[in-house]
Order: sequence, then C-alpha cells, then structure tokens
Amino acid sequence: MADMSFDVVCVGAGAKALAFACWATKYGGLSVAMFDERHEAGAGWSSEESLAPGFLADHCSHIHSRAAYHGLLLEDFPEIDEMAEYSTHRVFSAMIFKEDDTWVGRYGYGEDPTQEKTYKLFEKISRKDADTYMWLLDKVVRYWGPAFDEAGWVPTPSSDEMDPLDLVMANPESGWKQEWTLMSPVQVIRELFESVEIQALFLRVGQSAGAMPDEAGMAMVSIMTAMQPDIMVHRGGAHNMTHCTSRVIQSNGGKIFLNARVEKILIKDGKATGVRLADGTEVDARVAVVSGAYPTDLVFELTGEEFWSPTVIRGIKGLRTNINCISWYTWALQGQPIYSAEVYNPDCHDAAYICLGRKDINYIIQDVERRRRGLWPDPEKFNLVINNWSIAEPTLAPPGKASVLTEQYVLPATAYSDREWQEVAKRHADEIIRFWSRYTTNISWENVIGYVPVTPYFTVRHSRSFGPSGGWTSIDTFPKQLGKYRPIPELANIRKFPIKDLYPASVCWGGYGIGGTCHQGYHVYKVLADLHGLRKPWEEKGRKY
Ligand SMILES: Cc1cc2nc3c(=O)[nH]c(=O)nc-3n(C[C@H](O)[C@H](O)[C@H](O)COP(=O)(O)OP(=O)(O)OC[C@H]3O[C@@H](n4cnc5c(N)ncnc54)[C@H](O)[C@@H]3O)c2cc1C
Repeated sequence: MADMSFDVVCVGAGAKALAFACWATKYGGLSVAMFDERHEAGAGWSSEESLAPGFLADHCSHIHSRAAYHGLLLEDFPEIDEMAEYSTHRVFSAMIFKEDDTWVGRYGYGEDPTQEKTYKLFEKISRKDADTYMWLLDKVVRYWGPAFDEAGWVPTPSSDEMDPLDLVMANPESGWKQEWTLMSPVQVIRELFESVEIQALFLRVGQSAGAMPDEAGMAMVSIMTAMQPDIMVHRGGAHNMTHCTSRVIQSNGGKIFLNARVEKILIKDGKATGVRLADGTEVDARVAVVSGAYPTDLVFELTGEEFWSPTVIRGIKGLRTNINCISWYTWALQGQPIYSAEVYNPDCHDAAYICLGRKDINYIIQDVERRRRGLWPDPEKFNLVINNWSIAEPTLAPPGKASVLTEQYVLPATAYSDREWQEVAKRHADEIIRFWSRYTTNISWENVIGYVPVTPYFTVRHSRSFGPSGGWTSIDTFPKQLGKYRPIPELANIRKFPIKDLYPASVCWGGYGIGGTCHQGYHVYKVLADLHGLRKPWEEKGRKY
C-alpha cells in the first residue's frame, strides 16, 4: 500500500510541469503532487539575488516572449496575467560593428508597430534589404508566425505526419522556397540579404535560439528568432513565473514537495502507477505520472532499459548535447553600459539584444567550428551578446545601477575538470570585460560590483534536467532533435508513448518550444483531457488549440 496517493504525480516541478499542473488542477480538477529534488520549484525559471544586494540575476531562462511562450497560460489564467508584471524593450536587437561604431537592428513592435523605423535603419545600409525585410515581415505575420504558434501549442505528431511547419513550408504562398528547408541559416540569409551587416544581425540573433549558422535545416528557426516581435522582461525575474504558477496550483489543491528526489517510476503491466522517492516513500498515481526528467535519466535510471526497445535505447544514448552550451554571466554594474555606437544613433542603448559584431559573418561560423573541434572560443574574436534587462525593467537593479547579462557560446561542462572550471570561469570574466570594453566607453572592472559566472559547469549543478553537458536547451537543437523528432522519433508523440500513463513534460520533448515556454505542459494536459474527458478551455473559448 502506497504512503500517499494522487491523481497525477510529477517528477520535478520545473517550468513545463508547473504549466501542466496549472491546467490539471484548475481545469482538470485533478489532485496533483509534484516532487522536486531542488530546494525550490522552477529550475529553468529561477532568479537569485546573488551578485550584490539589490541586483537580480536569472540563472536560466530570461528571454521569454509573451504570446509565443505564455500566451495560452495567460489567457486561461487571468490571475497569472494580473500577478505577472513585465516590461519590454524599445529596441529588440542591435548589431554593433567594431569597424566604424555603427549598428543595425530591429525596433520592438511596441515602439514601432509598422516597423517603419526598422525599415529606415535597414535602408541606411541597403534599400533592397529593407524591402526584403518588409516582405519577410509580411510572410512571418501571415504564415510563418501562426504556424510556429500552432507547432508550439499542439502536441507533436508522429514523424510520418506533417506538422504545422511542414505544412507552411510546403505552401508556395508562404514565400518559403522548398530548397531552404535543407539549407543552413547562413545559406538562406545570404540569399535573402545582400549586406553583410544585416546577414550578421540575423545570424547572431538566430543563434540565440540554438540555431547554429552552418547547421543544415535550421534556417526557419533561425529567421523566426531574428524576427521575434518582442521580449518580455519579468518584474522580479523569470522566477516570478514560478511564484505565479505555484500559487495557482496550490490554490487549486495541488501540492509541491521540495528536496524530494524521485528515485523510481513504478511500472506495473506496462503502465506507470506511481513513484518511489529517495527516502523510500511510495506515491500512487491513479491517472498519470508526468516526468520533467532528462531523457537518459528517464530511460536508464527512473525506469530501466527493460521497458524500452533497442531502438529507443540506442537513440537516447546517441543524443547530441555538446553544442548548445553557453556562458550566461549576469553583471552588477555601477551604471548602464554606454556604447560608442550611440553617437551614430542613440537607440542602441535601449536594445534587448546587443550583438558585439563585425562586418564579416565568418567570425560567427568559425566560432561554431572551433567549438566542434573542442576549442574554447577565441577571446579576440568573441561572438558576444549583451542582454540588458535592467534598461527595460529598472527594478532588477538598485536605482542608477544596472543588471546586465552576457551570452557567449562555450564548451560543454564535460570539457574540463572541476578544478579547471574554477579557473576557466574566472578567466572568462576577464575575457568578457576586455572584449565588451572595446565597444563601450565605460565598461571596465571599475564599473563592476559583482558577477554571477554561470557556465555549463554551473548549469549541470543547478538542475540535472540540463544533462551532463549543461547546454541551455538540454539536448542540442538541430533537425534530428527538433519538432516531431525530439528527442528521438520513437518518443516524440506523447499520445503514443511506449509506457502507458507516463507523459514527458520537458524541454527535451515537444516540437520547437526549446526554452522556458509553457508548451510541453499544455501538451500533456491536452492529451489527458482527451483521454479522461476533462474540461477543455480551448473548446470553451472557441480556440483552434
Ligand atoms: C544558462 C541558461 C540560460 C537559458 N536561457 C533561456 C532563455 O533566455 N530563454 C528560454 O526560453 N530558455 C532559456 N533557457 C532554457 C530554459 O530554462 C529551459 O529550457 C526550461 O526551463 C526547461 O524546462 P523543463 O521543465 O524541461 O526543465 P526545468 O525547468 O529544468 O525543470 C526540471 C525539474 O525537474 C527536476 N527533476 C529532474 N529529475 C528529478 C528527479 N528524479 N526527482 C526530482 N526532481 C527531478 C529538476 O530538479 C528540475 O527542477 C536557459 C537555460 C540555461 C541553463
């Protein structure tokens, strides 16, 4: 006889499982218990006041888009929309060129709803590219964006079915050319834009979604990221999503247990029936077990090889995880960085993404090639992005000060020993400051109050859901591990999961929602709602999905 019993038991209380539990408790009326081994819920939605008093740092996800990430959650839970305050930047992206301290970028839709201001920035470099940008925008708004939304919120189909992105790419009206599907971002972007400046802007911003510039088949993801409408900056940090969702879950009777590691998922007659915790407690799941665990943990530790086919075992052992690894340092600064390019046009000061670039896309490609060979990025040729959160949301730092994040793709956690990482993390801080200072008038160690050195080594210790490499997308994102093939084709369709009543709600599953989105949680609720006749807010509200 089990020690506790619930309708649904969640392994982990991470971003996706929290989203699931909101729908399951409120709309499904299910009793849900979540067990997480960490000291708090929301591993990938976590913020800490850890650099200097009054400065907030998001140790994982920060770049969220309101509609694409949380749109349906906010629609179905107006109480969250009320609690979760956020800001947006005037300028979405800026790529600054070292050669002459100029920049090009995109304004956010709030500042520039028709994108005329963006058109003018592009036009200064190339009239033809400005026109192409407006053509692209039209296609994104009418075809590609809606397809991405649908692919995000609808449970992933099997690999032999068409998903919404396949359909839009096959539609000639969408503007997508068939050959682009097989091409890399750099190949498609070179075809679209003539100026190296705009090519560089698109490639670097696209890379922030894990689309490596030379990876075949990643052009759509790359372009869609570069064309994002806005970024939402959470007041109180991304962890505020954890607070808001936890409140909804608990006020609807759900329970969140912390410092509670799940050791085994209990399986009887091919069906998940509950979990056993590390302290021996057994918990019954009457309806389902929902897993936020990393794929190898799920297959080899929480269940066991005997439950999976040889193809699944080989596929999971072969997952690629070493390329999407970043350093993610948050800097507590005495004041906002001032860029030399502000003389050219002061608006780059307010950008969400500031790419420190050159008028040569080869440095972006060579940066990936170096890492594939196991080499640390060349600090003289960094491919650094500055994400300035406190410029849009000043409450993330004390008055007059700044909390700013830097992103550089680096090597996986497995590249160095524990002791080596301590040295690499310190040396890297120096590399960043030196590189950043070349583009600014006031970045030096004098301006730094403190910093949080989030490297892949740190990420692995933050949560086991980032796997042994500590990549920000947990497993890499490239066609073989995306969409209806993520993590492997045999496990992608959660309606046909090999173990009955077991459902994965993790970023390693579920289409294209490769970050802190609510998608995979919604997928699991949709499947359970169909199977068990639960309330369907999408039908009640007349939504397509
Ligand atoms: C440095 C960094 C930067 C990032 N930046 C962004 C960004 O800007 N934008 C973006 O969209 N995404 C970003 N991400 C990614 C985003 O944080 C994750 O994709 C997302 O949080 C994954 O959600 P999840 O629910 O799958 O996993 P998590 O949120 O990590 O949750 C999984 C939970 O399961 C728990 N767990 C696992 N196994 C067990 C077990 N056996 N027993 C008990 N508990 C268990 C873990 O402790 C964890 O709490 C970033 C990630 C990192 C590391």
